Amino acid sequence: MNSRHNIVIIGGGTAGITVAARLKKARKSLDIAIIEPSDTHYYQPLWTLVGGGINTIADTVRPMADFIPAGVTWIQDRASAIDADRSAVTLGSGRTITYDYLVVAPGIQINWHLIDGLAETIGRNGVCSNYGADKAPYTWEVLQGLKKGRAIFTQPATPIKCGGAPQKIMYLAADYLRKHGHLDNVDIQFMSPGTVVFGVPEFQETLYKVIERYGITFNLQHELVAVKGDEKVAVIRVTDPEGKQTTKEFSFDMLHVVPPQSAPDFIRESTLVNPEGWVDVQKHTFQHNRYPTVFSLGDVSSTPNAKTGAAVRKQAPILVANLLEHMDKGTVGAGESYNGYSSCPLVTGYNSLVLAEFDYDNRPDPSFPFDTTKERWSMMMMKRFLLPVLYWKGMLRGRA
Ligand code: FAD
Repeated sequence: MNSRHNIVIIGGGTAGITVAARLKKARKSLDIAIIEPSDTHYYQPLWTLVGGGINTIADTVRPMADFIPAGVTWIQDRASAIDADRSAVTLGSGRTITYDYLVVAPGIQINWHLIDGLAETIGRNGVCSNYGADKAPYTWEVLQGLKKGRAIFTQPATPIKCGGAPQKIMYLAADYLRKHGHLDNVDIQFMSPGTVVFGVPEFQETLYKVIERYGITFNLQHELVAVKGDEKVAVIRVTDPEGKQTTKEFSFDMLHVVPPQSAPDFIRESTLVNPEGWVDVQKHTFQHNRYPTVFSLGDVSSTPNAKTGAAVRKQAPILVANLLEHMDKGTVGAGESYNGYSSCPLVTGYNSLVLAEFDYDNRPDPSFPFDTTKERWSMMMMKRFLLPVLYWKGMLRGRA
């Protein structure tokens, strides 16, 4: 059956649920619907710790039904197309949902198929990834079996969710090897297509020391393009300082892959996107640049912040204020403006973490009064024990 709602939210992930909870809190009378196909909701930041054997996947999952705010309609289906000129969303089932306002938050798409041979070998042959609930446990399995040889960790050239995650699992793995006396027997290599270790110089300085401590080889302008799973060989495209490209093969015993990522296909095929394929919104208010009744936040939006749940926590209240202002007065921007805040809790070992918080200009934007560029035990404890509670009980309930 087709239906119409005041506000339709695509995606019941971090961003969609947080926005729904805040909208309902602000105005109980609103008729809100969330389009979300999944029965389960994941707290993805713990997937790094699943790969390091600290948590299990069960620690990261809850039933979706427990987090759809009271009074919000849950349309358990997949959005398959958006016709923003007609204010309509088509669902996988063929139904059409129309809206007064649309919030686009279906997250990011992991493009496993863009690395030759990866889809065939992921989950076998020592090829693992923390970028999937069904995949992260294998990272831990591979790590426990690693006693000598080479471990390779990769990052793609596209924007990704949690830009620090490709490195975090490497530092955990190195610390695990150190604790078990195998660090000297394993050649650890990071492959990054980028030109820096981390975009914020203050935190990069600390990471240099971590890299040195573990004896890691950090290869810049190195991009994984193919995996020969049965041979345990990674094919890496290397760009030299003059821009000339060559291909090199590296054997491995463990290969942790972070594949290229993009907005979901149905978003990229819509009229909502900018030339890079992200939902084209104003970076301080989250209002769409061409469709004033469309807003977007989280991993799918064009706002040029680091894509994290921590960024969503700051984005959601600002988006909600702007959407309600537009509903009431036809304007946006009267209240607080988003400064690009994001936070990347850089796990550097089983008992240490650097809490990197920064804004659009890559300037540190700390929440704590001490020097957050240092590795700290307390910040690791916060990630393990406090942030999950803040997420499930605070953020998703519209309280934090
Ligand atoms: P998601 O939370 O991914 O939600 C998207 C939702 O949309 C999903 O529920 C999905 O089912 C739904 N959806 C998809 N397609 C459709 C469709 N067609 N129709 C309807 N619904 C759809 N962030 C941090 O802050 N700190 C960290 O330490 C951290 N570490 C991370 C480590 C890893 C390994 C990973 C993978 C992520 C990490 N993140 C971290 C990132 C964080 O999880 C994301 O940035 C955040 O979840 C983004 O929220 P979102 O709502 O945009 O997307």
